[in-house]
Amino acid sequence: MDHISSYLAAIVQSSDDAIISKNLNARITSWNPAAERIFGYSAAEALGQDIRLIIPPDRHSEEDSIISRIKKGEKVEHFQTVRRRKDGKLIDISITVSPIFDEKGEIIGASKIARDVTEQISKDETLADTKTRLELALTAAGMGDWSWDAETDLVTFNPAAAKIFQIHPRIEITWTELQTLLVPEDAARAAVEVEKALKKRTHYSVQYRMAKEGRTRWISAKGLGQYDEAGAPIGMVGVVQDVTARKEQELILQALSKLAPAIAATLDFQTLLQLVTDEATRLTGAAFGAFFYNAITEDGKAYVLYALSGASRTAFENLGMPRATAIFAPTFRGERTILLDDVTKDPQYGQSGPHFGMPKGHLPVRSYLAVPVISRSGEVIGGLFFGHPKPGMFTKTDATLAEGIAAQAAISIDNARLYEEVVKGKEAAEAASRAKSEFLATMSHEIRTPMNAVVGLGSILAMTEPLTSKQREYISTLQTSADTLLSLINDLLDIAKIEARTVELEELPFSVSEMIQEIISMMNVRVQEKGLRLISSLETSSLQKKLLLGDPTRLKQVITNLCSNAVKFTERGCITIHVSSRPTDNPLTETLEICVQDTGIGIARDKIDNIFEKFMQADSSINRKYGGSGLGLSISKTLIEAMGGHITVKSELGVGSTFCIQLPLKIALVSPQKEPDKAFLEDGPKRPSDGGTRILLVEDHEPNILVAGTFLENIGFSYDVARSGAQAVEMVKKGIYDLVLMDVQMPGMNGLEAASLIRANEKRESKLPVPIIGVTAHAMAGDRERCIGAGMDDYIAKPFKGIELQDKIVRLLNGSF
Ligand code: ADP
Repeated sequence: MDHISSYLAAIVQSSDDAIISKNLNARITSWNPAAERIFGYSAAEALGQDIRLIIPPDRHSEEDSIISRIKKGEKVEHFQTVRRRKDGKLIDISITVSPIFDEKGEIIGASKIARDVTEQISKDETLADTKTRLELALTAAGMGDWSWDAETDLVTFNPAAAKIFQIHPRIEITWTELQTLLVPEDAARAAVEVEKALKKRTHYSVQYRMAKEGRTRWISAKGLGQYDEAGAPIGMVGVVQDVTARKEQELILQALSKLAPAIAATLDFQTLLQLVTDEATRLTGAAFGAFFYNAITEDGKAYVLYALSGASRTAFENLGMPRATAIFAPTFRGERTILLDDVTKDPQYGQSGPHFGMPKGHLPVRSYLAVPVISRSGEVIGGLFFGHPKPGMFTKTDATLAEGIAAQAAISIDNARLYEEVVKGKEAAEAASRAKSEFLATMSHEIRTPMNAVVGLGSILAMTEPLTSKQREYISTLQTSADTLLSLINDLLDIAKIEARTVELEELPFSVSEMIQEIISMMNVRVQEKGLRLISSLETSSLQKKLLLGDPTRLKQVITNLCSNAVKFTERGCITIHVSSRPTDNPLTETLEICVQDTGIGIARDKIDNIFEKFMQADSSINRKYGGSGLGLSISKTLIEAMGGHITVKSELGVGSTFCIQLPLKIALVSPQKEPDKAFLEDGPKRPSDGGTRILLVEDHEPNILVAGTFLENIGFSYDVARSGAQAVEMVKKGIYDLVLMDVQMPGMNGLEAASLIRANEKRESKLPVPIIGVTAHAMAGDRERCIGAGMDDYIAKPFKGIELQDKIVRLLNGSF
């Protein structure tokens, strides 16, 4: 055997393929081990047998044709057929048959190489099957597959993927071109992910938006790189899926959960409607949005346009009232959501006349979406309407979104309505309270003006000589009644101010000891009349010198009220005023404590808690026996608390009561006010050098002219009367008056205007300013500021006593103010 033959024999022995020879009579002449393995016959069994041993009967004819081709010297290559094993099992084989020639070149037989391809075939079949199944699964999931070739940059799609990308399957597109179809920021993000995955040789998974035409669609893409032996990427394969619907659902939830708190927190009606319209328009991708609120106009007409988005009000003005049109009516009836791809083509809505169911002059709307807004009580509040000039712009998702927003809006509108009602109620209550206070202020002014005459003339009468004792008694009763009436008016005015929250407190330096002295001298007459004693004790001697900052008028009012009560409710014994002060943490502030103690009737335990309430008296007999309105303590408490302090009471029935005020007050860092010139009071006013003080009395009310005039005469001043502001301005120009007593409230030019004009004239003519005292009847907080603001020097409230007027005039003339 030459080496070639032995090499061949070795191949034959070692081959995986069955190598069989046969002669032209189809007898088997060689049979290698692989043939034994594949066909199950041993060489001994096979040799000499007809080759049909392994050919199933129905394929015998194949052998004939093979033999005939061999005889012609032809080769049969890779012929796929079926053969039968010894155990009867059919196997798929691939056979290559070549003729065998003898030395003379005559064909003596055939050699046959048979390969068992059963496994291969089943593998191929499985592959094909898997592929079909995969494709089915991909289609069912709305997925497509694609591959990318790095060398050519071309991307190949299966039909499903092509559809997702909205590309014709046969169009060649490069990876770079594909990127341009995506929303740029998403394309950039995806590129980074792909790059990362290719480097790490891992999968990537990204979501991006495609905005090729019309609506934005969301695509989810997954891919895996393919690499050459050197590890360089040669391409990618992957799948894509249209996830727009899922994404939109997600966005709806996100949008609603973001929007809901904002809507819920908005209680202002207009802002709420606008917010809902703007957000719903933006989220549905509409070009125009409108919220028609289901209100009835005053003349009973239908719907009022409330909020718009994406279009100007003028564009909507052409709409008119949309209620009657077929397209709007179902929404306003709260029937259902309407979603139309093209409103101009819709048979139900699109055939009513030249405007396709839309009102004349409507916006260029093709895509149309409308949802009713229905309140919890089932009332149709209105409708949310959306439009787009392109057809097919709204999806079911948009409708769901709009419905979600409408539901949220309905709840918030209900809340806003409730809120509006509450606010309106509150405003009405406040307006009523304001009106009441204004009424009280006006009334008290109206009462004070004639009261000024009563009180004034009473005191003038009392000074008249001669008077019989009867007449003195009458006058005295007249004066007490007038005083009681005045204090009642003052209390009512205070209560009105407290309720209207218009109490204004001043911060002026004042001396506590002086204040207590003034109160004591005021109380003394009554105290002595009742046979009581009034004692005051100033615990800290420094208090006598020190000035504190606060509202002396109001504090005096409170202490006077406590003292009056003490005197009123005490039949025997004494009334003590204790004044002390304690330092606080702040070196510039002290706590002033003033207690008014009496040995009077006391207050029952069960009444003491309510004693500071308005119109509260310890028992009903009090009013009959002692009079009073039950307002004093309530006013006192409010004033003291407004000043930052508090008021307390201790009392025992039949033993007595102690009312204490604790009030933190700043220490004034200014020198005390000059004492009024006491000398004047004894010696009469100092007259200017020409020998006579001339006063201009500006007053329009005749009885008050009489009162003030008599006061001035009694003090020793001469006076002229101006009956209007304008007249006063003219008279002052003469330059003969030392002081002006100016009524503030006058018809025509009022006192404030007149004072301003006087000051302006003086300035222009470089004259010295004449002192002006304003006379007001309001006694309202701010009166003083208004007078000073108009250029006056001081003010006095009606009704005033002669002594008060005298005091004010003297202070001013002596330049001590
Ligand atoms: P008025 O004194 O006008 O009735 P107040 O508000 O000042 O109103 O007082 C309310 C009530 O408190 C009085 O009617 C009286 O019953 C009781 N009261 C106040 N001060 C005293 C006091 N010093 N002794 C006993 N009772 C007092």
